[in-house]
Amino acid sequence: MGERRVEHFVDGRWVESGGALQVVTNPSTEEQIAEVRLATPADVDVAVAAARRAFPTWSARPVTERAGYLASLQDALSARLNEFASLISDEVGSPLQFAMLAQVGGPIAVLGDHVQLAETFEFEQRAGNKVVRREPAGVVGAITPWNYPLHQIICKLAPALVAGCTVVWKPTEVAPLTSFLLAEILEELDLPPGVFNLVPGTGPDVGEALASHSDVDLVSFTGSTRAGTRVASLAAPNVTRVALELGGKSALVVLDDADLGAAVQTGVAACFLNNGQTCAAWTRLVVPRGRLGEAAEMAGRVADSMTVGPPGAAGTVLGPVVSDRQRSRVRGYIEGAIADGATLVTGGVEPPEGLARGFFVRPTVFSDVEPDMTLAQEEVFGPVLAVMGHDGDRHAVEVANSTPFGLHGGVYGSDAERALDVARAMRTGTVDINGIKPDVGGPFGGFGHSGIGRELGTFGLEEYCEVKGVNL
Ligand code: NAD
Repeated sequence: MGERRVEHFVDGRWVESGGALQVVTNPSTEEQIAEVRLATPADVDVAVAAARRAFPTWSARPVTERAGYLASLQDALSARLNEFASLISDEVGSPLQFAMLAQVGGPIAVLGDHVQLAETFEFEQRAGNKVVRREPAGVVGAITPWNYPLHQIICKLAPALVAGCTVVWKPTEVAPLTSFLLAEILEELDLPPGVFNLVPGTGPDVGEALASHSDVDLVSFTGSTRAGTRVASLAAPNVTRVALELGGKSALVVLDDADLGAAVQTGVAACFLNNGQTCAAWTRLVVPRGRLGEAAEMAGRVADSMTVGPPGAAGTVLGPVVSDRQRSRVRGYIEGAIADGATLVTGGVEPPEGLARGFFVRPTVFSDVEPDMTLAQEEVFGPVLAVMGHDGDRHAVEVANSTPFGLHGGVYGSDAERALDVARAMRTGTVDINGIKPDVGGPFGGFGHSGIGRELGTFGLEEYCEVKGVNL
C-alpha cells in the first residue's frame, strides 16, 4: 500500500475525515496503491458553511484578482504536469503520453482560456434603459467522475472562480488521488479559506448530501445519466439549479463522398481514446451501407494495430479500463452484442494476450449493428465500437439521432456545405467535421439524456451566474 490520505480540505485547512476507508487500485497491476478515508455528510455541512461564509468577500473581489489565482494554478499545473500525469495514469489507467497531453494538458488550456475570458466577459451590459448584470450563482456543489479526474473539476472550478462563486467539490471515489494533489496546490496558492473545499466520498453518501443541501445554490454534476437524474431529483425540492454533463453514444457519420480510410482511422482512434472511457467518444461509426463490410474490415485492422499494455510502457495506445467492475460491465455488453446477432470483427471477452493481470479489454469492433440493438443504444464505456450502415444522408442522420443521448457527433465528407447540413440535423451538443477538433472554448454539453447546460467558454461561465435586470 502506498499513499494514505485521512484528511479532507475545508475552510483552508486539512481536517481529519470520519468516514469509511476506500482502497484505490491501480487498474494495470491490480495492486492497491492508496487508502483514503472518506468524508461524511456531516463534513459536507461544514464545507458548505465555510463556502457560504467565504462567498460575500470572494465575490466582491475584482475579477482580475480572482482570475489571477487561475493563472497561478495554470503555472503550477504546468510545472507539475509529469506528476499529475503519472498519478492519473496510475489511478485511471490512461496511457502516460495521453495523460500528459489530454488529462493534464487539457485542464491547463482550460485555465488559460478562463484567464482570458475574465478580461472579456461582460458582467454588466446596457440594454435600452436597463442594466443587465451577471452575478455569481453563489455556493457551487461540484460532483465529478473518474475518467478525466483533473479536467472535469477544472471545467467547473475555473468558471466558478471567475464568476465569483465558492466551491465544495466531491470528486470520484474511484480515482480520488488527483483531488488531494490539486487541493495541496490550491492551499499553496493561498486561495482564501472556504473558496475551495474538498470532501471526498461516495455518491450515495457525500454526493447526495451535497446535491440535497439547502444552502448550495448550484449543483454542477458530471457523470452517468443514472446518477445525474438522481442528483437533479435531490436538488429539486430546494429549487437548486443543476448543470448536468452526462453520458453519450455519439455517432461518426461518414458520407458517401468521404475519404473512408481517413474517417475510419480517426473514428476508431477517437472511440478508443482513454481506453474507450471518454463521454464524447464516437462509439458508433455510421457508414454507407454498400461499404459496410469494407469499413468494418478497416476498423478491425486499425483496432488490431493498437498496442494494448501497461499505461507507462512506451508505445502503449490502450491501457486497462478503470476497475474490475467496469471490465465486467464492458464484457457484458460484448456478450450481449454477440447474442443480439451483431458480427464480431475483432476483440471479444478474452483478455488480450499476455495481459491476464490488470483490467484489460481487447479493442473490440462489431459490425452489422442495428439501431435497436443494446450496443447501439447504451453507453459501454470501454473499447468497443459499433459499425453501422446508412442508406444516404437523411437516413444517416436518423440513425445518428436514434438514441436517447445527444452529446457529440462527427461528420466526414468532401463537400463542406453538405457535411455542415448533416451536422445541423444532428441532435447533439457538439459536432466535429472531418477530424477530431479539440476545443476548450466551448460550448460543450448535451441534448436529451446527455445533460442540461453547457460547459466551457462564455456559455459555461454563464452557468455560474444569475442574471439580474436593473431598470433605470
Ligand atoms: P458516475 O455517475 O458513477 O459517478 C460520477 C460522480 O457522481 C462520482 O463522483 C460519483 O460518486 C457521483 N455519484 C454517483 N451516484 C451519486 C448519487 N446518487 N448522488 C450524488 N452523486 C453520485 O459516473 P462515473 O462512472 O464516475 O463516470 C462515467 C460517466 O460519466 C459516463 O457516463 C460518462 O459519459 C460520464 N461523463 C460525462 C462527461 C460530460 O462532460 N458529459 C464527462 C465525463 C464523463
